[in-house]
Amino acid sequence: MDEQGMVIAGGGLAAGSAAKTLRAEGWDGPITIVAAEHREPYLRPPLSKEFLLGKAPEEELAVNPAGWYAENGVDLRLGETVSQIVPASKVVRLESGPLVPYRALLLAMGAQPRTLDIRGSQLEGIVSLRRFEDSLALRTELSRGGRRVVLIGSGWIGMEVAAAARTYGNEVTVVGREPTPLGQLEPELGDYFRRVHEAEGVRFRLGEHPVEFKATDDGECVSCVVTNTGERMAADLVVVAVGVVPDVGLAKAAGLVVGNGIVVDASLRTSAAGVFAAGDVANSLQPFTGDHVRSEHWSNALNGGKVAAKSMLGIDAALSIAPYFYTDQFGISLEYSGYGQRARGAKLVLRGSIETVADGLAGFVAFWLRDGAVVAAMNVNTPRSQKALKALIASRAVVDEARLSDPSVPLAELVQEG
Ligand SMILES: Cc1cc2nc3c(=O)[nH]c(=O)nc-3n(C[C@H](O)[C@H](O)[C@H](O)COP(=O)(O)OP(=O)(O)OC[C@H]3O[C@@H](n4cnc5c(N)ncnc54)[C@H](O)[C@@H]3O)c2cc1C
Repeated sequence: MDEQGMVIAGGGLAAGSAAKTLRAEGWDGPITIVAAEHREPYLRPPLSKEFLLGKAPEEELAVNPAGWYAENGVDLRLGETVSQIVPASKVVRLESGPLVPYRALLLAMGAQPRTLDIRGSQLEGIVSLRRFEDSLALRTELSRGGRRVVLIGSGWIGMEVAAAARTYGNEVTVVGREPTPLGQLEPELGDYFRRVHEAEGVRFRLGEHPVEFKATDDGECVSCVVTNTGERMAADLVVVAVGVVPDVGLAKAAGLVVGNGIVVDASLRTSAAGVFAAGDVANSLQPFTGDHVRSEHWSNALNGGKVAAKSMLGIDAALSIAPYFYTDQFGISLEYSGYGQRARGAKLVLRGSIETVADGLAGFVAFWLRDGAVVAAMNVNTPRSQKALKALIASRAVVDEARLSDPSVPLAELVQEG
């Protein structure tokens, strides 16, 4: 048994990114990726957008190009699961039996969709969206059009799937627990997205949640969603998008410190020597704010994989890039950078109008200010502003609110002033 290998548990973006960085940094020893899915590491964001809409081919989802793993001597064990971690003896056990020793271990098991524990949850036609196969099956269903689709959850994924379902010509209702969609945003911002969706024919049942799914006469398929207000909605298909739960079972069993994910420092080191964690599963220290944050976003997995790989090699590295994510809904593009935890309850300043949604999709930028400095910023339909927004956040500069909200003042000027 080779005791010098790098082992990665999990086969998503964080894993693919880490493997690539290990090789790029000159590691020429063994790398093993143990990946539960039967598919090379792939990007999930298109699963609720371009791929779901049939606009992106399967090949575009790959984290690393086809053939990269074999060409770079990475032992990619697809369809295999890590079932135990033993930090004391630096080995992992695979579900199929063998023990794999490691020099350094990366935990990149991601997260699983949260499920609903209400009557009828197991009926056919009630689905969630996490894996490639989920998106493919959903695309087949939605692309038929003319179906009654109910989305449970008005978060990012729920809203994206609602947009795709409607684009395919289905009757779409979103059921959301919060009074406005995208509950972590201020009501006026969530409301903007509600109006965008309503203009396209999506219906909302907000401030409601499902309490039961009714079955068709044969008792097999979903036919109706009943909410807490007694509202009944006929449904041919229900998509449950109520968040994810980090896959921490293995880490917990191994005695690692866990709390809303696997707790790691800014170099992505867990509490066990030689064990690192990255991506959706990791709750990492943000050097910029001093907060611990578990981010469920693409850029966190991509950059976390890179940082973890360097740390595994003993290179000084920290995950210090501001969190970033994007979404596309009905042709509206949104990007968000910054520290969401700090943005909660912070002062919201808008640049541009969010009142109108139908006049050529005018864009706007939302800024969240703490002690006068921008801690997060979201640009909607204003592409090419992210670079300046990121610089503004990183500068910690106290900004002039009037100038910040004035679209005629170039963002770059505000950065320079800071
Ligand atoms: C539909 C959808 C749309 C999204 N859209 C966006 C977006 O627009 N913007 C954005 O920023 N983010 C988006 N995200 C989130 C983003 O995709 C995730 O943050 C990212 O995939 C996390 O990568 P990861 O490598 O940490 O985990 P994952 O991608 O979850 O990969 C983990 C992998 O490890 C496997 N695994 C788990 N346990 C084991 C084990 N014990 N042994 C072996 N393998 C194991 C899992 O099966 C999985 O394949 C979206 C996610 C989804 C599902």
